Amino acid sequence: MDMDDFSAANRRRCEAPDGFNHALNSWSLSDWMTATLGELGEAANVAKKLNRVRDGIPGNRETPQELRAQLADELADAFIYLDLLAQSQGINLADAVLRKFTRTSEKIGYLRPLRA
Ligand SMILES: [Mg+2]
Repeated sequence: MDMDDFSAANRRRCEAPDGFNHALNSWSLSDWMTATLGELGEAANVAKKLNRVRDGIPGNRETPQELRAQLADELADAFIYLDLLAQSQGINLADAVLRKFTRTSEKIGYLRPLRA
């Protein structure tokens, strides 16, 4: 997946009349943050259920396989919102991640290229 293509499609779907019909700038940073963290909260709830599986505690209605699929969906939801949050602030998330990853790698003396 090319991140620039994804981000462009993500914004188009967000704003299109036949998509969510939601102008990117109609929400504040705080609104986007709430949406993003809401999805991470949903992911955390699934993680709690996977902890039950790990610890043999009853209470889940889903199989472990179903829970892992749910976790993937919630992480994806969080990522999609995070990308929109970044775009709302004029940040290219892929570029920001690469810059920060590289800076941290240099800081710890980890000098391998991204594609090893
Ligand atoms: Mg969700």
